[in-house]
This record gives sequence, structure tokens and C-alpha cells, in this order.
Amino acid sequence: MLTGAPQNAGIVAIALAYTITFTILSVGTSLIIGGLKVLRAGFYEQHCKSCLYDLTSVEGDTCPECNTPITRPAEVAS
Ligand SMILES: [Zn+2]
Repeated sequence: MLTGAPQNAGIVAIALAYTITFTILSVGTSLIIGGLKVLRAGFYEQHCKSCLYDLTSVEGDTCPECNTPITRPAEVAS
């Protein structure tokens, strides 16, 4: 019987389909997680770490809501 070749071809096709699907899912998940990390980092730079108070317009060194010291990213002194 010569049914070996078509069966192998089917297995290869299925394996290829699984590989492609897994690769796409892995890359997509990595991109989503990476994007969330970037968004979260940006959020915490502008909000108090303790109470999440919006610090975008706060000039002092402490949070006006809970007095937690504000740690800002290094800025160039002018
Ligand atoms: Zn606070």
C-alpha cells in the first residue's frame, strides 16, 4: 500500500499549522505584555506610588495627598 506519503503530508501540514499558530500567539502575547508594561511605567511616572494621586501639575517633592516623597525620572537641570 502506498498510503504512507499522503498521511505523512497531512501530519506535516498539521504540525506546520500548529507551529505557525503557536508562533503567532507567542509573538502577539509578547507584544501585548510589552505594551502594557510601557503604559504602566508611563502611568506610574505621573502618579503617586502610594495613593496614585495625579502628580502631573505638582511642583513639590512630596505628594500633596499622602506626603510620600515623589521620585521623578531624572530631568536635565536648566
Ligand atoms: Zn500620594
